[in-house]
Amino acid sequence: MSRNLKEILQPGAHVVVVGLGKSGVSAVRFLLNLGVKISVSEGGRQENLEGDLVRWLKEKRVFVETGGHTSELLTSADCILVSPGVPLGIAPLAAARQKGIPVVGELALAKDFLKGSVVAVTGTNGKSTVTTLIGDLLRGCGKKVFVGGNIGIPLAEYLAGPQDCEAVVLEVSSFQLDSSGEFRPRVGVLLNITPDHLDRYASYGDYVASKMSLFKNQQPGDVAVVNGDDPAIAGWLAKAAEKKSPWPLHGEIRQYSACGRTGIRACLRGTTVRIAAADEPGKISEEYELAGTPLAQAPNSENAMAAILAVRAMACSPAAIQKSLAGFEPLPHRLALVAEIDGVTYYDDSKATNIGAVYSALGGMRQPVVLIAGGRDKGGGYEMLLPLVKEKVRAMVLIGEAREAMAQAFADTTRIAFAGEMDEAVRLARSMALEGDAVLLSPACASFDMFKSYSHRGEMFTQAVRGLGHQ
Ligand code: ADP
Repeated sequence: MSRNLKEILQPGAHVVVVGLGKSGVSAVRFLLNLGVKISVSEGGRQENLEGDLVRWLKEKRVFVETGGHTSELLTSADCILVSPGVPLGIAPLAAARQKGIPVVGELALAKDFLKGSVVAVTGTNGKSTVTTLIGDLLRGCGKKVFVGGNIGIPLAEYLAGPQDCEAVVLEVSSFQLDSSGEFRPRVGVLLNITPDHLDRYASYGDYVASKMSLFKNQQPGDVAVVNGDDPAIAGWLAKAAEKKSPWPLHGEIRQYSACGRTGIRACLRGTTVRIAAADEPGKISEEYELAGTPLAQAPNSENAMAAILAVRAMACSPAAIQKSLAGFEPLPHRLALVAEIDGVTYYDDSKATNIGAVYSALGGMRQPVVLIAGGRDKGGGYEMLLPLVKEKVRAMVLIGEAREAMAQAFADTTRIAFAGEMDEAVRLARSMALEGDAVLLSPACASFDMFKSYSHRGEMFTQAVRGLGHQ
């Protein structure tokens, strides 16, 4: 984008906020401080908006259109702030772009309006975990930190306030990156890329490019922390090295690897993270111990490496990092240990809504697994899971809309049973598990066919498991 947003967002300019979700409301709050004229365009119906919100917008003289986005309103703007949930290709946005109106998301605001150093985390899976961990580590190093973005508080909300933190850690989604303008994180972290959201991208290649665009505006002195074991990332880095990628990578690339290939800055030996010296790659300069913490098991051990490299680039000391690693608590519904009953351990990984997350969960399991999976299919195919299912899954209990398709995909690899409700799924899983096994809820699918959300699904699982304990 060639025009500076600060110049455009002057008092009197007309800004249209598209999408009135959490980040849209925060965007309005941020824009109110600038004295611009604000309109909102919301796809949902007026009656679905909360009364308090409607009253507040009226009081602030914000014009609101609901039930769709009109070209008439959008093309009357000087700038459009679009929420991540709104597809960028819709006709009214295309019409506005054609008129030369900047269409940006909240990340694009960072360049002109954000104070403090930014660490931004993306990837198909692990974003929330790593964003939270980086926040914890930076706090442990005595820094005042804002943690938010795609998780918790939107960036625009922070921009609307006093901005009193020295470090800003943001979880960023590919949708946010697609409208991120000249967003330039001081430290960018890319965890992995596996198929997801293919309903919004024309091809997997487009999705990979979206993730890699985290590093698009980095300059020498910035740092790009990337997963050196990820084939999609490795492919892109190779293209960049041959100057064949769509844009050059200027940041310093620091790779981590679970299998410790050469030329890597962080690798794992057992449960120890080893960091290679910057100037002497063969020499180990630092070690961090993960044993006895929830970070010891994959994929969290990989997440720990990513976070350590990120905060080392933010002047955090090794001693402070080690201390905070020991106190890290995993987020709910991400491979959370629920209970051990009759020698069987139960894990709630309800947040695993795509195959990449299930792949890593199974990869980290040291014991045979009875897997509870299924829900609303996201269209990525299940082939990637076949070898691991064959190796580790004793039996599978399938639920939800995708169960027939999954049963077909896994028919020759493991024993399969169907369940109607979560209670039944847990009881069946228990009957199929042997002492020493794990029962893992890691669905590979969205939850909305049977539950309100992934957390609701995880809570139902936890309740059903606790119920077993009381029998
Ligand atoms: P996101 O915010 O990207 O959805 P979360 O931290 O919420 O990531 O975790 C989502 C799912 O991905 C969980 O099932 C979790 O166990 C799994 N997961 C966490 N870290 C990784 C990783 N590095 N690679 C693959 N899967 C992961």
